[in-house]
Amino acid sequence: MGRPFDKAQGTPFRFTLRATDGAARLGEFETPHGLVHTPAFMPVGTQGAVKATLHRDLIDSGAEIVLGNTYHLFLRPGDELIARRGGLHRFIGWNRPLLTDSGGFQVFSLAERRTITEEGAEFQSHLDGSRHQLTPERAVDIQARLGSDVAMVLDECLAYPATHEAAAESMQRSVRWASRCRARLERLRAEPPPGVTVSNAGQAQFGIVQGGVFADLRRESADATVAIGFEGYAIGGLSVGEPIDQMYAVVQETAARLPVAAPRYLMGAGTPEDLVECVARGIDMFDCVMPTRNARNGQLFTSQGRINIKNAAQAEDDRPVDPACGCYTCTHHSRAYLRHLYLAGEMTAGALNTLHNLTFYLDTMKRIREAIQLGTFERFRQEFLRLSGDSRTNS
Ligand SMILES: [Zn+2]
Repeated sequence: MGRPFDKAQGTPFRFTLRATDGAARLGEFETPHGLVHTPAFMPVGTQGAVKATLHRDLIDSGAEIVLGNTYHLFLRPGDELIARRGGLHRFIGWNRPLLTDSGGFQVFSLAERRTITEEGAEFQSHLDGSRHQLTPERAVDIQARLGSDVAMVLDECLAYPATHEAAAESMQRSVRWASRCRARLERLRAEPPPGVTVSNAGQAQFGIVQGGVFADLRRESADATVAIGFEGYAIGGLSVGEPIDQMYAVVQETAARLPVAAPRYLMGAGTPEDLVECVARGIDMFDCVMPTRNARNGQLFTSQGRINIKNAAQAEDDRPVDPACGCYTCTHHSRAYLRHLYLAGEMTAGALNTLHNLTFYLDTMKRIREAIQLGTFERFRQEFLRLSGDSRTNS
């Protein structure tokens, strides 16, 4: 339940660093809808629901915060309709923390006929072809109506690979957009203009570091974004096709340049191994569609690596997906049954597989937090990578 909140005190968003182990950090942040323990994984609830999952199961699997996609909710059912329902928490019946992206990533990846100018992005809806404009100010207003606990600035998402010159130009525009986003949020906090409903007066806002795979641009972007000043900082524009070692190098250098006293969010990553490797480089928050999307395609993550439920090898296998997992799927059903449901096209297959994969991801985060607390994170990391084998390469 959202706690009553005095607007005059500003956002109640507070990040507390509890322990470190190497570059890995254990912490927590406070939002108007409760506490999030970090390192945290955020399941992706694109349309106001994590696909094939009840909110009740999200809570059981240990999710403390869920991500909503602004682009999708803005187009359907519309941010104003959601504001009239009291904001996204009340509309979807989720009383815990929510983070919304700015909509920018989907405008760049899904929308049709987009044009980008200094003012913002113009695009056509992928649903009905209707024309829309997404400016930095508009992205802030839409997220204010949605009332998420953490809103993201609008940034330009650059395609990979890009030249240094293109990455520099795009990054500098993102910095100017970030500055406009912050100014708009401050205006909404002071006195919302007519027509803008602020559904969650305690909403925090994160800046996003861009700059492609270029170390000098990442440094410039990090310094400029920190100079504007946000409650937290994200690293964007990674996990877009660059070699994995390059991603880790950018994460390591960028995280080290961000303030110790604010959470660091790596957007759109990744595999279970990526989570462990990026926690080791100082990241506190993650989101990715991989556990949910792969579950619907029959790929399951386990403590012994990945398995593909459609394989003939599972046809008469009475073992659970992962004997080490305590989720409903693993404590009630065999691989043989899950394979049958999958091949029969039964919707329950998607639900059971998703519940397992989400539990595996969230359980991994819990084990990461325990290891940092105990000062045994490096040992945990080595063991985790050894057990998962080279599963990254046989997906
Ligand atoms: Zn399980």
